[in-house]
Amino acid sequence: MIGLGIESSCDETSVGIVKDGTEILSLKIFTQIDLHKPFRGVVPEIASRSHLEKINLVLSESMEEAGIGFEDLDYVAVTRSPGLTGSLMIGAQLARCIHAVFRTPIVPVCHLQSHFAALQLEGVQPIFPTLGLLLSGGNSAIYRIPEFGRMETVGDTMDDALGEAFDKVAGLLGLPYPGGPAIEEEASKYVPEEGEKDLLPPLLRNLEQDRVAFSFSGVKTAVAHLIAKRPELPVPKVCYHFQNTAFELVERNLKRAVAVTGCRRIIAAGGVLANSTLKKRLRKFAEKNYLELFAPDKKILCTDNGAMVATLGYYLFQKGYSTGLEFTVSPVRQETYV
Ligand code: AMP
Ligand code: MG
Repeated sequence: MIGLGIESSCDETSVGIVKDGTEILSLKIFTQIDLHKPFRGVVPEIASRSHLEKINLVLSESMEEAGIGFEDLDYVAVTRSPGLTGSLMIGAQLARCIHAVFRTPIVPVCHLQSHFAALQLEGVQPIFPTLGLLLSGGNSAIYRIPEFGRMETVGDTMDDALGEAFDKVAGLLGLPYPGGPAIEEEASKYVPEEGEKDLLPPLLRNLEQDRVAFSFSGVKTAVAHLIAKRPELPVPKVCYHFQNTAFELVERNLKRAVAVTGCRRIIAAGGVLANSTLKKRLRKFAEKNYLELFAPDKKILCTDNGAMVATLGYYLFQKGYSTGLEFTVSPVRQETYV
């Protein structure tokens, strides 16, 4: 079965073509990072205009690389929520066009779930229920997933997402946008002394013992105070401590989510998982606590991409989910389609 996946929820325009939900026949991504760089964040109007400009090109390149025609497609999966409404509409409209001409069934999917489905492209078949840890530019949350198509929130962020915190802290330190790769690189230059004390206070110190919640706006303020008070601190040292403090909250929340749900299997996904320090730390944490943890090895599968949309679409299509022109997009999370 051959499926096409369209992703346009935020700042990547992507089309992927996937066979049987597991094999990538082609994957094209146009990233808008350079367009948003001057603003140090995603500007919705610029994002939707750029999707409109690029989506046909990305589609034709992807079709060409896969060497298939539209009549070979069994379904078209498309991100329908959550995301920027104007951007989601561009992808949705492309899916509708393919459907209108070729009668290809449409499978509208949830962006967050598609991140978790990405692992199937690395040969990992999910076993349900599983916990899903999502750390990206727009989300920091842990979900309990009984199966694809359903997702229960265990804990969410009260303010900034982790990727957003990376981007903002990078701004404070004069590092480029997006902040994640720049901070990771700086942090890797720093070798801490043995038993070195944390420079930043722990996050959400006073949260109830069984509550799962993220909050990253405090660490951004703490970094701002720290560098104002101690401007002599080397940037790599500040980056190292920022990562440490932020990742400690991720680990603490995972531990609590396991205790609350009894689920010992975790899929980790999202743009921040491109961070190898985080990935190493999570793997160690899982080993120590006898948990199963899966995270994409390939950076391209951490980023927003059409292949993960096609993969989730395969799963849902087989379960009988599909629609015609009548689906809608939504800025907030909707399970599958209306
Ligand atoms: P996404 O929202 O999934 O497209 O991911 C984009 C977010 O991931 C941005 O906020 C980036 O700063 C962040 N990011 C990308 N690479 C890294 C990295 N190596 N370490 C930490 N964050 C990262
Ligand atoms: Mg993105």
